Amino acid sequence: MAVVNLDEVAGYVDVPPAARILLEKPEREMRLTLSIRMEDDSLACADTFVVYHNTARGPAKGGIRMQPDVTLAETAELAELMTWKTALMGVPFGGGKSAIKLDPHRFNRPQRAEVIREYVHILRFELGSGSYIPAPDMGTSEHEMAIIFGETHVLECVTGKPPRVGGLPGRREATGRGLATCIAESVDDILGMDSHAFTVAIQGFGNVGSWTAKFLSDAGRQVIAISDETGCALREDGLDVDGLMAWTAEGRDLCDYPEAEQLPRDDLLGLEVDVLVPAAVGHVFTEQVARRVRAKMVVEGANAPTPAEGDRVFAERGIPVVPDILANSGGVIASYVEWRKAKSGSLTPESETFATLDQLVHDGLHRVIESARGWNTSFRTAALALAVEEVVHAMADRGWF
Ligand code: NAD
Repeated sequence: MAVVNLDEVAGYVDVPPAARILLEKPEREMRLTLSIRMEDDSLACADTFVVYHNTARGPAKGGIRMQPDVTLAETAELAELMTWKTALMGVPFGGGKSAIKLDPHRFNRPQRAEVIREYVHILRFELGSGSYIPAPDMGTSEHEMAIIFGETHVLECVTGKPPRVGGLPGRREATGRGLATCIAESVDDILGMDSHAFTVAIQGFGNVGSWTAKFLSDAGRQVIAISDETGCALREDGLDVDGLMAWTAEGRDLCDYPEAEQLPRDDLLGLEVDVLVPAAVGHVFTEQVARRVRAKMVVEGANAPTPAEGDRVFAERGIPVVPDILANSGGVIASYVEWRKAKSGSLTPESETFATLDQLVHDGLHRVIESARGWNTSFRTAALALAVEEVVHAMADRGWF
């Protein structure tokens, strides 16, 4: 499940044999057992995985995924993505990830708090030393991050906290903000279209999907379709994103939203739009699904939505893909600003965070576009090659080879 094909990127940047050996496997993989007492006094156990992929550039950084079917291999894949994302965007972290194999919907809020307290207990050395710095991912939110802070009393040991609990104004919205910026600039520079008039369909209406939709629609762009686990809401003249956010915030299902046409959930992936944004699960674009896509471009909000088979189909069909490590980097950029704020004690307004992430996403996108055009390769290969080069230099600086 390695994200990077080292043979391929070595065609563009220098990857010495010793560096290749170090990059072929994660630095560290942990499998732990988390146990919690249930309401009926029985004991429930959950496999918990922690992976440090590469820490040459800084401590392992990456979210906590809570999902019933998560695996060690998936955690390792996500940790590797973090290595390349932080390197490409120039934030001083390495790649890490953790996962708790539990269905968050099976637990109420106090029980989820108990799960996270136990998570902090079993990872007290990693969290206490700052060698792994978590953040929210699928199935976790700023609420869990606040509990981690509460258990450790160390502000910088976790990011994605609520602003009133040492968090950063704008972190909640950051991934969507960066993604919306990346989409608009990609429409202009890759599709050569007017970046004020384009249509978008978004798979997923959680943290990433909802804020991306909100920033795009606030800027007057037409978000015509959004899906979540329950279904797909479509409006050819543009959805009322604020209305949809208010609807789901009250615990109602997207599939019951009355102000839109309802389609089967996965029909979203085949809609004729300018930009298709996967912002939910990984490995969405199998060969079959990629063949159904009728969008002019894919911009990846989710991590790892396009396996190699999907990339091959998109390349064959001339559909450009703006890769995850660039497009969804707003979250880790804001996490860096939050971590820096926690360490320095400074106050950082939302406007400063958004300005930093808009600038880094803009710079990263243009570096990737220029390299891809110069090397005549895909945006993903160019982004990975630039990131690998950074990590190889950092490992050499550290005397690892
Ligand atoms: P989330 O748990 O807040 O939301 C996930 C959304 O996806 C929910 O609306 C859910 O209903 C929907 N969903 C699940 N399965 C679906 C399906 N088959 N079809 C359509 N919708 C489906 O998660 P999130 O934090 O928004 O993360 C989404 C993706 O973005 C993940 O791949 C995550 O790794 C990635 N990501 C998140 C962040 C972040 O800051 N939260 C940063 C970078 C990347």
